[in-house]
Amino acid sequence: MSINFRQSADTYRISRQRMVETQLIPRGIHDKKVLEAMNRVPRHLFVDEALKNQAYSDHPLPIAEGQTISQPYIVALMTQALGLKGHERVLEIGTGSGYQAAVLAEIASRVYSVERKSALLARARRLFDQLGYKNILCKLDDGTWGWKAEAPFDAIIVTAAAPAIAPPLVEQLADPGVLVIPVGDEFSQTLTRLVKQDGETTVQELGGVRFVKLIGEHGWKS
Ligand code: SAH
Repeated sequence: MSINFRQSADTYRISRQRMVETQLIPRGIHDKKVLEAMNRVPRHLFVDEALKNQAYSDHPLPIAEGQTISQPYIVALMTQALGLKGHERVLEIGTGSGYQAAVLAEIASRVYSVERKSALLARARRLFDQLGYKNILCKLDDGTWGWKAEAPFDAIIVTAAAPAIAPPLVEQLADPGVLVIPVGDEFSQTLTRLVKQDGETTVQELGGVRFVKLIGEHGWKS
């Protein structure tokens, strides 16, 4: 390992710790598993080379194909809302850079992630291999259909803005199970948490967010 590499790895480790201490804890992220995962995943590897030095800043960043990687706080908030203990099988719709999937994979037993853009999926897959995430399975598809062959899932997270909660996702949610999804129009959405328990579903609103569009059969048509 060269001295330069070690120096920069160390710089990012400090930036990552600072991100947790200044952006997450003061805003109410208290789940130790989530804080530890955010402290471990090298977010700078999931963004473009030119944006590396902004990877731990308090805002979303553009990735390829006109998509975005969410602000660290939103990733932490959505992960915390799933209430993972460690044994869960989690479905993610919208792999994008792969960052959210990596955070989930640090906590859950297995992560299934669906992406509709092949270039994004290919890059994310390469990173998962390089970083040794053997518990992430991905596929290229319209994720609004879920992943029927692997259902049910203990938790489902949708990282793109949906006009409504896609029915296949509720069907593929285990009982008990938690689904977190931004629901609204294309400009602003409400982060929504649906809990399935004893055959009943309850819905809770977690606040305003802004995501790129979920495009597919049970999302937007374009
Ligand atoms: N979780 C990602 C954020 C990605 S942005 C990360 O951590 O970087 C949202 C992603 O959802 C985009 O990559 C977009 O291509 C994808 N997407 C949009 N509609 C989709 C659909 N129907 N199925 C699967 N992926 C979809």
